[in-house]
Amino acid sequence: MKIGFIGLGNMGGPMAANLARAGNDVSGFDLTAPMPDGVIRAATAADAARGADVVITMLPNGAILKAVAAEVIPAMPAGAVLCDCSTVDVASARAVAADAAAAGMGALDAPVSGGIGGAQAGTLTFMVGGPDDAFATVKPLFGIMGQKAVHCGDAGAGQAAKICNNMILGVTMIATCEAFALADKLGLDRQKMFDVVSTSSGYSWTMNAYCPAPGVGPKSPADNDYKPGFASELMLKDLMLAQDAAESVAADTPMGRTARDLYRTFVEDEDGRGKDFSAMLPRFSARNG
Ligand code: NAD
Repeated sequence: MKIGFIGLGNMGGPMAANLARAGNDVSGFDLTAPMPDGVIRAATAADAARGADVVITMLPNGAILKAVAAEVIPAMPAGAVLCDCSTVDVASARAVAADAAAAGMGALDAPVSGGIGGAQAGTLTFMVGGPDDAFATVKPLFGIMGQKAVHCGDAGAGQAAKICNNMILGVTMIATCEAFALADKLGLDRQKMFDVVSTSSGYSWTMNAYCPAPGVGPKSPADNDYKPGFASELMLKDLMLAQDAAESVAADTPMGRTARDLYRTFVEDEDGRGKDFSAMLPRFSARNG
């Protein structure tokens, strides 16, 4: 396929490289990032999109996505598909989808989970919103960049799935960390805590697969001095998107709101920026109630 790829940072770079390695004709554009192996540099985002069957974007936020979409949609051939893989607010995803549809283009919101490691290994999970025919067009590319693509519904459904998942993730990480800090103060050995909880009703992905206690459970960022992994500021971004979405539909999300507030304090007022989101454990350990 002929693919335009815009936003070649930590995630987009390896995703574009995997598409090129699989034999696709990939034309890339980024304001600063270097061109990945096999990707041909375009002078502008519109140049990358010209003649493409699919244009993929992997950008920081909804405002930038809307600006880039306004530039590329007029350059795309009729019937092409604009597939945004960034994590952005639901409203921006829906606005871009409507603009693309009005111009005769398909559009998908297809945020990912799996992080930089998953982008490099081609093992991302895509959660996708948009029409069936656009999903069918891009499906083979999801199979190259990832191991799973779930078609969640209409425009915005992919972003909705992403922020709901990550709201659970943020809340659960905090619960796991505060429970470890409590266990420490009660004199309970961390390994024993893991052995019990990981096989009891408190088990979760954050305990079983990404344990925030160093030396306990499978290897995780805790074993690497809390180097990300998934940085606390990215978790904060997703929790803020979840709360913005909750406010927009009057959903009551007290745990999500508390998680957002805690990560905001951690990132903005404490030393959380640049640390993995599991570094909440040493934060709790250092505090008294
Ligand atoms: P990044 O900052 O490394 O990459 C973003 C890239 O977009 C940068 O290279 C930047 O130069 C480029 N860019 C910005 N404005 C542009 C424009 N107008 N035109 C062209 N290029 C432009 O970020 P990332 O870690 O690759 O994340 C990208 C998206 O993926 C974000 O929405 C993020 O929330 C999401 N995400 C990241 C992770 C992760 O672990 N890093 C995991 C899941 C989802």
